[in-house]
Amino acid sequence: MTEHHPAGAPATPGGAVEADAVIVGAGPAGLFQVFELGLLGIKSHVVDTLAHPGGQCAELYPDKPIYDIPALPVCGAQELVDRLMQQIQPFGPVFHLGEEVAGLQCLDDGRFELVTSAGTRFLARTVVIAAGLGSFQPRRLGVEGADAFEDRQVHYRVRNAAAFHGKRLVIFGGGDSALDWVIDLNGRAGSIVHVHRRPEFRAAPASVARMRELVAAGRMDYVEGIAAGIRSDGDRLTGVSVKCADGTTRDFEADHVLAFFGLHPRLGPIAEWGFELEKKAIKVDTAKFQTSVPGIFAIGDINTYPGKKKLILSGFHEAALAAFAIAEHLNPAKKVHLQYTTTSPIMQKRLGVSG
Ligand SMILES: Cc1cc2nc3c(=O)[nH]c(=O)nc-3n(C[C@H](O)[C@H](O)[C@H](O)COP(=O)(O)OP(=O)(O)OC[C@H]3O[C@@H](n4cnc5c(N)ncnc54)[C@H](O)[C@@H]3O)c2cc1C
Repeated sequence: MTEHHPAGAPATPGGAVEADAVIVGAGPAGLFQVFELGLLGIKSHVVDTLAHPGGQCAELYPDKPIYDIPALPVCGAQELVDRLMQQIQPFGPVFHLGEEVAGLQCLDDGRFELVTSAGTRFLARTVVIAAGLGSFQPRRLGVEGADAFEDRQVHYRVRNAAAFHGKRLVIFGGGDSALDWVIDLNGRAGSIVHVHRRPEFRAAPASVARMRELVAAGRMDYVEGIAAGIRSDGDRLTGVSVKCADGTTRDFEADHVLAFFGLHPRLGPIAEWGFELEKKAIKVDTAKFQTSVPGIFAIGDINTYPGKKKLILSGFHEAALAAFAIAEHLNPAKKVHLQYTTTSPIMQKRLGVSG
């Protein structure tokens, strides 16, 4: 069974949690690390700032399809997270969600002490940093009064696309997220006004071309401008004012305002842990995915090495190799042999599939 410890509750009363492996980050890389360690008989604790597992997939684009997961021609981002959670279930990882790892230090006995924002303390023999972009924050709309409607009528991410069906939407932004949602919700929303501050877009050219087609076909509106104010009636947002590029101000009625201005990647406490960084990523070797500190590994979007590509499948590969290195670190006297899940009785026993 997967265990959950709510924020604020120490896993063992009055003491530190002793662990063979603590994984910082429950994105796809961190979740698959649980699996690869589990196959080798190593149990994991997983800590994440978010209240749910899945990292960027769950937080930024849960409803979007992913097409480059091997052997899954198409897989929803949240579906991928759900499948990973199902796959790691036999290994009983302990989740500490809603907690940010605030401190990490090396102890004299070779272990590592991690302390979370909720006060949980770990004594770990190995640590895997799978922290992705770090603790990230969406850039806000930046107009007075918008905060009061956040998550009700002002949204910086789409948690449930169906909630926007039949509604009047004003969508801000010129990147892929904004364009993808403008296109995806077209025909499902009651109406869409797309607002972007300048003629150039950061989105895929095909998406921009599609948006222009939809405008030409009269299926949505496009305005060049910036948000100038929120219009409301009591505790309900009724619309948004836009300062247009031609100097005029136009008011649009809206049930929901969606703004996709990108993220503030906030490396957060990780920046102070003394690792060698390059462009806010932790340098690792490509044999073990170990950092400059033996026993601390970094996988997924948080790491860098020559040729690094920030893709989910890169994180999966890195997790597999890191698991072998972690097993050797935990038990240097024992050689870890490659085994196939197809034929290994011990792995099948750990997976709970042996007869
Ligand atoms: C819109 C969009 C579409 C994408 N499409 C694809 C695609 O089609 N194919 C593909 O391969 N990739 C895609 N990606 C990229 C992919 O999502 C990332 O490569 C992947 O999520 C990285 O996984 P990760 O586990 O390394 O990090 P993340 O998913 O970023 O997860 C890291 C987790 O660590 C947590 N964390 C950070 N710091 C701390 C701390 N100090 N304490 C506790 N927790 C912490 C964060 O809260 C987060 O949950 C897409 C990304 C976006 C934004």
